[in-house]
Amino acid sequence: MAKTRCTDIVTGAILASWRYDISGITPEMRKDYEQHFTECPHCSARQKFHRSLDMTLTVLTSTAVFFFLFALAVLKHIKPLEHMAFNYFGLDVYDTYHMLVSAGIAGLCFSVIALALVLTTTPVPIYLRGFAVERARLIEERLPEAIKALRPR
Ligand SMILES: [Zn+2]
Repeated sequence: MAKTRCTDIVTGAILASWRYDISGITPEMRKDYEQHFTECPHCSARQKFHRSLDMTLTVLTSTAVFFFLFALAVLKHIKPLEHMAFNYFGLDVYDTYHMLVSAGIAGLCFSVIALALVLTTTPVPIYLRGFAVERARLIEERLPEAIKALRPR
């Protein structure tokens, strides 16, 4: 991170305590903070860092949910326990299967809880909704007039 200093220490301290997230405050109050972000390269860089950290946590936890679901599907449908390694190591197939399923369910529960915590404690849903609204507006602008006329207003 660049070694810059905040241009307004009081405002910078307030923003730092909010993790540089101003999405939860009213638009009237937001104006001063948005202006500070445009004027202060330090706070602007910190805001970008924190939002990328939030997005990384969201991607990691949702990927973990996907992989635990995938692992449970593999255990259910592909029968990896019939692999000949089990014969060599003398593992009990029934116990091993239940241990793996328990680990998969525990991992799935843990990653769903982690994803819920990330989504409730970070402003990621607000940013994703804003991104989706912007993309929908861009797609709607590109639609042919014949299709736009069909849409009720
Ligand atoms: Zn600042």
